[in-house]
Parts: sequence; structure tokens; C-alpha cells
Amino acid sequence: MREIRFYNTLGRTLETFVPLQAGAVQVYTCGPTVYGHAHIGNLRTFVFEDFLRRSLSYLGLEVTQVMNLTDVDDKTIQRSNEAGLSLDDYTAPFIQSFFEDLETLHVERAEHYPRATEHIPEMIAMIETLLEKGFAYVSDGSVFFRIAADDDYGRLSGIDLSQQMRGERVASDEYEKEDARDFVLWKAAKEGEPSWDSPWGLGRPGWHMECSAMSMKYLGESFDIHCGGVDNIFPHHENEVAQSESATGKPFVKTWIHSEHLMVDGAKMSKSLGNQYTLKELLERGIEPRAIRYLFVSAHYRQKLNFTFDSVAAAANALERVDKMRFRLASASENGGPSATITAAIERLGQDVANALANDLNASEALAAVFQLVRDVNKVIEQGAVGQGDRERVIAALADVDRVFGVLDPGDWQQDDDAADGLSDEAIEGLLADRQAARKSRDFAESDRIRDELQGQGILIEDTPQGPRWRRG
Ligand code: AMP
Ligand code: ZN
Repeated sequence: MREIRFYNTLGRTLETFVPLQAGAVQVYTCGPTVYGHAHIGNLRTFVFEDFLRRSLSYLGLEVTQVMNLTDVDDKTIQRSNEAGLSLDDYTAPFIQSFFEDLETLHVERAEHYPRATEHIPEMIAMIETLLEKGFAYVSDGSVFFRIAADDDYGRLSGIDLSQQMRGERVASDEYEKEDARDFVLWKAAKEGEPSWDSPWGLGRPGWHMECSAMSMKYLGESFDIHCGGVDNIFPHHENEVAQSESATGKPFVKTWIHSEHLMVDGAKMSKSLGNQYTLKELLERGIEPRAIRYLFVSAHYRQKLNFTFDSVAAAANALERVDKMRFRLASASENGGPSATITAAIERLGQDVANALANDLNASEALAAVFQLVRDVNKVIEQGAVGQGDRERVIAALADVDRVFGVLDPGDWQQDDDAADGLSDEAIEGLLADRQAARKSRDFAESDRIRDELQGQGILIEDTPQGPRWRRG
């Protein structure tokens, strides 16, 4: 198998990735906090994680992915109280909206989507272990992690907390802590908050504890890859490392992969700037989800990505180049045996895409290989040198690499379009047949009317010696 290299946040180097168990890989990805609709920044991270998942599988590994749903935390509790709803009733529509967004962007399903509220016993068990081992203490019905007991705290993010108010006893976040640096594992319930019974009284888990307990439940005490956006590195993932390794005495995660943020018009997304879009808002503005997916997968995950309406238009144009090649190829007639140029181009595509992905998921290089194929095939079409079986071979080669990109086949997205604009493939074929009949009986007014009608729906028609062909414009 090809050597795979990833940039590991733990150690901050590009290193060879060797899964703990040969041939298989376990991935934990921090999921959404379901107090509202995901914004497109969140979705960039989720699409990246999908790209990682598909790449690992393309490179020959069997993937087990877990993505949690944070359905209890400060924000979900506060918002559900404001809305006068139970936590479950409040989060349910946002969980549904999250899965709809994943589907819209053709994100493959993870193997497990555990919900925090369904794993409270596992969290309590882990906190008990930390207490037994002296890594935690109880204070007023809450439990805190004792950072002073963890010698290499900061190993993931590189943060040095040694200068920060060590040993001072402070009331922070309304709870009494031994040390300002300590973080909460279990929060005592306040009046009117949803709570669960525990050895320390009624309360709820801290956010970091949720991910440690759920990842270990599904992937074991040590596993291969843990992902999230860069904002997750500190404190969330640092605290996950501290509590998990203190509880088990084993390395928690081998490779930490963090994706950079999505910016909007060059600025950080924020409520105050009013640039925090949801996917549904973008769809309402007529933006194609396929172009959004292309934009997300085309940028390197370790670079900030600037979302602008121009960048989405550029993404749509890039896809158009692939679609046009498909269209021309489908209408090209076969002359002679298979083209040697196409054989070589297909061979190179597979190699180049796999090499680019294995090199820390170099998406732009992988896509450059796709466009090289597009150029090569266009040349062969222009030369009238498309040979027997070439059309099928090119389409199969595109489908093979599209297992990773999930965006290259317009047919995969057509159904979504059909639902949106109401004109199904069958309807289009039917109208084209009517147009042919009109032409045959020399009723050109009628045949032109049908063509205009289709064009009005964004359907482009090209008459070829083999008959009319159509595509969505
Ligand atoms: P949350 O729902 O806030 O827990 O975030 C879900 C995921 O989205 C996390 O992995 C975050 O790191 C990620 N995330 C948050 N903001 C952005 C952003 N602007 N761009 C990319 N990812 C983000
Ligand atoms: Zn998490």
C-alpha cells in the first residue's frame, strides 16, 4: 500500500500514518452542537471530514467513523429554556436540519452518530476513574479535572499554563475550583436545568467529557484519528487528551487532524457582521449545492477558505468544464480501436489522484489531475480519435476518482435539481420526442416553441448526427 502522510497537530509535523490495526482506520470527528442550524463554516469542516473519510477508503483502508451530536451543553440548555421546550424537543429540529445539510452536500454517513444525552453513564464511569486516580476532585456537587496532576498538560496545543494563576483558589464560571486552570468534568445542576443523577448529585457532563467518553465507547481507549476545526484544538481537544490519557494511562489518539476555518468575504463569520450563512439560506439565493461542495473540497484543509459569491461561481465554472467534456464525449463517434492517449491519461489520473491524497490530502493536486484528463480527452475528441470503448473507460475513470470528490457526476445531483425545478429527465425526453415529431412533420413553429420552452428551463439542446442531446445549463 502507498505511504500515507498527514500533518499531525500533536507534534506539528508531517508524518507517515500507520493505522493501529492493519487495513482499518478509526476516525472520531467532533459533531455539531445542536442549538441552531449549522453554518457553512461548520459544514466546511464536515465536508472536509467526509473528504478524509472517502480518501482513506480510496487508499484502501476500511473506515469506521464516529461523529457525536452535542445535544446538551450550556447553549442548548439556555436556548431550550428560553424557548420553553424540553432539551429533546428543542434540539430535534436542528438534528434533523443537520442531517438534511449533510445529504444536500452529499456527505457520506458515518458509522455512528452517538448523542451525548444517551451516553451519560459512560461519562460518569470515566469521571469516577479520574477521581479514584487523583486526577479530579469534587466541589459543591461539580467535578473538576486537576491540571496540576497532569505533568504534560498542553502536549497537543503547545499551550503553557504554568504561569497562569497556579494554585489560586478562584470562583470561576460560578463554580468553586482549586486552581483557575482546572476544567469541569461534571456540572452540578442549577435550578430549572435538565439534569441526570450521579454519585455527586444531579448534574450534567462537561462538553470535553462528552467526546472522550463517546469516542472511547465506539473506538476503544486508543484510536487512529481525531478531527475537528482548528478552534477545537484548545481547550476542547487538549482537555480530551488530558482526561482520556489520565483515565486509561494509554495514548488516546495517534493523529490529530484539524481543518482551517471558512471565512466570508475575507472576515471571520460572526453574528455581528451578519455574514453567518446557513446552507438553506444559500440555496434560497439560488446557489447550487454541487458548487458549494466543489468549493469546499477543492481547497487544502489546512488553509483558510474565503467564501464569496465569486468563488462559488468559479467552482461552478470548473464543474462546467468537466460536464462539457462528458457531454462532448457522449456525442463523439467511435473511430477505430482504443486511443493510446486516453489509455495513458486514465492510468495517470488514478496514480496522480492517489499520490496527491496520500500526501496530506492535497486536494488541489488531485483535482489538477482530473483537469489534465479533461484536457487530454478534449484533444482526442477534437482529433476525432475517440476509439472503441473509450467513452465508457473515461466515464468509469471519472466515477472511480469521484468516490473521493463526490461531485464530478452531474447525474448524481440531477435528482436534487429535478426536485427543485420540477422538470424530470423523463419530462425532458418526452418534450424532445415531441420536438422531433414536429420537425418530422415540418412544423418548425412547434419544434422551435418546444426548444424555447426547454431553454427557458435551463435545458440546452444540441443536435448531433445521432439525434438531439440535452443537458442542464
Ligand atoms: P460546533 O457546532 O460549534 O460544535 O462546531 C462544529 C464544528 O465546526 C467544529 O469542528 C468546529 O471546529 C467547526 N467550525 C466552527 N466554526 C468554523 C468555521 N468558521 N470554519 C470551519 N469550521 C468551523
Ligand atoms: Zn468534540
